[in-house]
Amino acid sequence: MHTINADLHCHSVVSDGTLTPEVLAQRAHSNGVEIWSLTDHDELGGQERAQKAAQDLGMRYISGVEISVTWCQQTVHIVGLGIDPQNPELLEGLYQTRNGRTNRAKAMSDQLDQAGIKGAYEGALQFVGNPELISRTHFARFLVESGVCKDTNEVFANYLVDGKPGFVAHEWASLANAVGWIKSAGGVAVIAHPGRYRYTSLQLTQLYEQFKDLGGEGIEVVTGSHSSSEYQTFAKVALQYGFMASRGSDFHDPIESHVDLGQLPDLPTQLRPVWSVFQ
Ligand code: AMP
Ligand code: MN
Ligand code: MN
Ligand code: MN
Repeated sequence: MHTINADLHCHSVVSDGTLTPEVLAQRAHSNGVEIWSLTDHDELGGQERAQKAAQDLGMRYISGVEISVTWCQQTVHIVGLGIDPQNPELLEGLYQTRNGRTNRAKAMSDQLDQAGIKGAYEGALQFVGNPELISRTHFARFLVESGVCKDTNEVFANYLVDGKPGFVAHEWASLANAVGWIKSAGGVAVIAHPGRYRYTSLQLTQLYEQFKDLGGEGIEVVTGSHSSSEYQTFAKVALQYGFMASRGSDFHDPIESHVDLGQLPDLPTQLRPVWSVFQ
């Protein structure tokens, strides 16, 4: 039986990816992706281009976004799929969420300066495709290019994370707001890469319950951030909470990303794919 090759999570130069929406569409298509979504962080600026590029290639497109949320003092990412990219409430919410990134970046740079790494803000800016969206990824690229670290994995093991130089805590959107904006834009809210969060099991249960109460409907099961045993763990979570399951590479760059577009295993059987609601 043919299973659909869906890849519903990746990033372009409009956030912290290195490829344009058009090049990503080409790459997804040549890798066999049949349903694709570009999910830039806190930004919809690439949606029209992605949609057009997918259409030109005859590939189905679902509009997307990945919203940064602060929940229980940690960052959680919520993907919105099938949203109307013109929806004023979503656009305003994302604008507010992006707000503060520049000041945070300057504070990150000050910390790195104190750790002996000079010019990080200007250095990171060299990699930024969208002035409203400077992220830790851009700092990571600067730290690799300037020879401080050999790759971005080494960066995130030693810098930019809680307890290491260059980490600045930041208040993103609330879970209720993020899910609310997605729903008012007609989309489906999906918990991104749940295996990455460092919550207690009680907190994780509360996250799933609150998300469901707010109208959240999906969870990523097969993602570039999960191990094969985590596919099984989160397949069980999906069944337990009645969430639809999503699949996405979280591709950012051909060298940095260890999973390419469309190259993940299929969803475990029994799960209801989130893309079934868009068919
Ligand atoms: P920000 O939104 O500025 O906090 O940046 C978050 C981005 O940094 C994520 O979307 C990833 O692209 C990247 N990132 C965070 N942690 C890691 C990690 N451990 N390894 C590689 N990339 C990471
Ligand atoms: Mn990213
Ligand atoms: Mn993410
Ligand atoms: Mn992502």
